Amino acid sequence: MLYSEIADVFDRLEVTSSRLEMTSILSGFFKDLDPGSLRNVVYLSQGMLHPDFYGAELGMADKLVLRSVAFISGVSESRMDELWKKEGDPGKIAEYLLQNRKQVSLFSEPLTLGKVLRNLTLIENAEGRDSQDKKMKYLSNLLMDSSPVEARYLCRIVTGRMRIGAGSMTMLDALAEAFGTKEDRPDIERAFNITCDLGLVAEVLAGGGVEAVRKMKVTVGNPIKVMLAERLPSIPLILDRMDGRCAMEFKYDGIRVQAHISKDSVKLYSRRMEDLTSNFPDIAAELRKQCKAGTAIIEGECVAVDPEGGMLPFQNVTHRRKKHGMDKAIEDYPVRIFMFDILLADDEDMTVRPFEERRAKLEGIFDVSEKVQFTTMATVSAPEEGEAFFSLALGKKCEGIMAKSLSQESIYRAGSRGFLWIKYKKDYEEALTDSFDLTVVGAFYGRGKRAGKYGALLMAVFDEDSGHYCTVCKLGTGFDDAFLAGLPDMLDKYLSEGRPHMVDAEMMPDVWFLPTVVLEVVAAEISLSPIHTAARNIVKEDAGLGLRFPRFTGRVRDDKGPEECMTANEVLSMYEMQAQDKE
Ligand code: AMP
Repeated sequence: MLYSEIADVFDRLEVTSSRLEMTSILSGFFKDLDPGSLRNVVYLSQGMLHPDFYGAELGMADKLVLRSVAFISGVSESRMDELWKKEGDPGKIAEYLLQNRKQVSLFSEPLTLGKVLRNLTLIENAEGRDSQDKKMKYLSNLLMDSSPVEARYLCRIVTGRMRIGAGSMTMLDALAEAFGTKEDRPDIERAFNITCDLGLVAEVLAGGGVEAVRKMKVTVGNPIKVMLAERLPSIPLILDRMDGRCAMEFKYDGIRVQAHISKDSVKLYSRRMEDLTSNFPDIAAELRKQCKAGTAIIEGECVAVDPEGGMLPFQNVTHRRKKHGMDKAIEDYPVRIFMFDILLADDEDMTVRPFEERRAKLEGIFDVSEKVQFTTMATVSAPEEGEAFFSLALGKKCEGIMAKSLSQESIYRAGSRGFLWIKYKKDYEEALTDSFDLTVVGAFYGRGKRAGKYGALLMAVFDEDSGHYCTVCKLGTGFDDAFLAGLPDMLDKYLSEGRPHMVDAEMMPDVWFLPTVVLEVVAAEISLSPIHTAARNIVKEDAGLGLRFPRFTGRVRDDKGPEECMTANEVLSMYEMQAQDKE
């Protein structure tokens, strides 16, 4: 298959912001692909060669890509510097220079998908002292045969800049449209939620239809999208919602880990599917030791503890997420895992079992030790019992409690947020609202002391219905000088020329970013806003919802991707909850 067909589709997707149109472009294209090619096209459209959790990155530095582009287009280094300052996107620069290329090599031949995949794999695997030269060589070899548009996407893929705006939800819509019906969409989504591998789901679907997708199972080695909790502002409301009786667990303030345990190995994944095994090797080994089953997938919270075993705040466990000096961090920051769920036990898919059965299974197949324990849990059927349990949790330095439904419907809902789990935190008592995990979509230059530097950020939530990011506040407080000084380093790689088309905003920042970085913010209140676009026209015509007096808490949520930040629907339900409170 020709790579130009794929690049053309990417190009068409990039200029539309309508999710419906994207879906129809993609489904039309997907229909005619063979299953194997489809799988690879799906990965490429997300800028990858493998599913997210695979962990390998093409990661070519911008400078290296620019050198390849300079080499094949014959421009000088100084001209390249000029273009780089102006464009900031190697893809655009490659496209521009190839359009103006005077001579195309006589030996040039059309690029095929096969050749693109081969060379990208070589780039990914290049190792050793001359790895940079090798990467340059493999990329130049592709660029030599590229049209301008093909070059644009190749350069974006190798530098990790591939954002055509078709997120995983749009891809699932397109797959359902191409190979099934609207009614099949939930089954296709479930297959994705339990495998985290869009390419695999696409291949199975194209090969065996929806029937084959329905048979896909939870498997060790494929992370499962995590189940998430809703929130309510008081214990009596939680009990009401749970029909008067529920389980309550301590809500630990650490890092969520999904452990995939097989006979002789254990892999730990974060909630963003990053491989955390090397950050918690002691926990991985201990889990294997204490597990009586051959295979299992469990979830728990890794929490840092002091020498007496007392729980320490979240910041302490983040030392275990460092890239370097892990050996020392393992010694200096002892960690325990508190297990709270089981998704696979031997070959049995536990996600379809109610909560109580899962908990019993978890307790049945693990022995506890100092490092591996179960979350503290109680069954609660009266508000006073709930309040007492909440105080107990706070006394143990936990964030609050997690209430879990005991109904027969309380299966593990991979990838969804619902009222089967309800969180209740200490902050809810003190302020009107919980903290918000928001994505940075823009920045404003500061004035006075902050002149010429980023002084405030434009923050957004994710709108699951449209797949867009909608603004909720301009954030200018809570930053210390060191954080402000580090902002360009953290954000500039996501600079976008103009407003990215997946961002809905009326406020105009000085610079725009592709939604990537997630920060934790607290606010005094959610209010109607004429300028912000979250939940626009829902509570009131021509108004959205915005945060009043937002303040950065100091916590960069690098465990969350932009699609896992707060959603517009969550802000809406918090707004409604707050309105009820005032009544
Ligand atoms: P939040 O990040 O505030 O939405 O809260 C949800 C997170 O709480 C989960 O993703 C877990 O990391 C964490 N957590 C802590 N204790 C528990 C527990 N007992 N059950 C489930 N999640 C927990």
